[in-house]
Amino acid sequence: MPVSESTWSRLDAIWAEIADIEHAEAVLGWDEQVNLPPAAAAGRGDQIATLEGLVHARLTSPELADLLARAEAHPDLSGARRAWLRAARRRQERAVRIPADLVLEMSRAASAGFAVWQAARQAEAFPRYAPALARNLALARAYADALGGPDRYAALLGVHEPDVDLGRVEQVFAELRAALVPLVDRVLAAPPLSRAAFDQPVETGRQLAVGRDAVTAFGYDWARGREDLSAHPFSVSFGPEDCRITTRVDRDDFAAAFFATLHEAGHAIYEQGLPAAWGRSPLGQACSTAVHESQSRLWENIVGRSLPFWEFFAPRLAAEIPEAFGGFGAEDLFRAANVVRRSPIRVEADELTYNLHVLLRFELERALLADDLPVDELPSAWNAGMERLVGIRPESDREGVLQDVHWSQGAFGYFPTYTLGTVLAAQWLEVADRGSPDLWAQVRAGDFSGLLGFLRREIHGRAATVTPDELVRAVTGGPLDCGPYLRYLREKYRVLYG
Ligand code: ZN
Repeated sequence: MPVSESTWSRLDAIWAEIADIEHAEAVLGWDEQVNLPPAAAAGRGDQIATLEGLVHARLTSPELADLLARAEAHPDLSGARRAWLRAARRRQERAVRIPADLVLEMSRAASAGFAVWQAARQAEAFPRYAPALARNLALARAYADALGGPDRYAALLGVHEPDVDLGRVEQVFAELRAALVPLVDRVLAAPPLSRAAFDQPVETGRQLAVGRDAVTAFGYDWARGREDLSAHPFSVSFGPEDCRITTRVDRDDFAAAFFATLHEAGHAIYEQGLPAAWGRSPLGQACSTAVHESQSRLWENIVGRSLPFWEFFAPRLAAEIPEAFGGFGAEDLFRAANVVRRSPIRVEADELTYNLHVLLRFELERALLADDLPVDELPSAWNAGMERLVGIRPESDREGVLQDVHWSQGAFGYFPTYTLGTVLAAQWLEVADRGSPDLWAQVRAGDFSGLLGFLRREIHGRAATVTPDELVRAVTGGPLDCGPYLRYLREKYRVLYG
């Protein structure tokens, strides 16, 4: 006997409510980062926490547990319904471990921490931020303990990446570090590339206009999106019909806003490609945080820092801002986009040093969670780690420990997904390249439909019907693998630096 229609319709209705509340929460979160007056932080924290509590109550209700058990007991489920139940069960199992009070407290602390971080970053005053960070850290420990398992960090990582265990993350970082450190040394021993094209003042509105032009060509749909300014660039989705991006502009560094826009649009293009019919179901989600990041890194770096992209875009840039870019050709801009340097800011780092920035955060947040590093000592540990891994000492905490938003919002165990996503992006590209030999000729002509079609078909369209491990095996035929990424980097920097 099939699962009764009323069971499914009630499950669908509960999940539609959960999705609606979460999207409303995301609107408040977007507004918090884009528009909020300084005095409104505490009130906004309460509003978001209330919605978070409503989601938690639905996820932990006896009714949902009963409906899920009844549906799961049936032997003859379709593949789609089995995937639905697996995705829903994962959320429900996690939620029932977490006390409602902790959910509310974490949510309020995240909003408060964000406001304090913004002010402390502005004032370059880590001591102002330290108490908020300590509070988030204590809550993250309590959250990890509630999730259970032998290791707090592994528990938090598992929230973002269910299929990649901590040991595998350590291996990935070890493999990348062993390959990247000597490669960075070799590249920096070669004659430097010129970054002159990007190191000149360009007015904010014109920077934004060319960024919009580029992501429109990629396929970002403005009827279902918009762009705003924020302290830390991000993307957010309120369902497949409303997938927004933000950026920040540095008048004297064209690359900062331009590549942040490409990056965030990569995230938003993924969200726009999730099947609309699943927008209010557990299937209409990203497959994992790393898979999400693989989309942004692919558009920002593999496409946006490629020679074929600049062969397409250099003439447009020169036409739109001739006084700044009229004298620069595709090769100049390709090289400027790939200058390797020991620089303090992660989101502005080149592809070779980027993962070393992430490794630093991975090491530090593990030490913080394990109580091996007191919060007060974090800035000096940060600076020492930057010197050891990237080879530069930040000149201020704004360029150092205060640069990233994540810990201010209580997001621990998140950073490794940046590196895993970077590795996955190269794996996707190898498959796309093999399937379509004229992919780069299309990019050179400003036609991104071949690549976008591949991503829509292979990744976006599958949404959360697969786990991340199933996805990488379905697309590439094998597991997560650093090989394609290292091959891509070696070939690219051989061309650039000889
Ligand atoms: Zn990202």
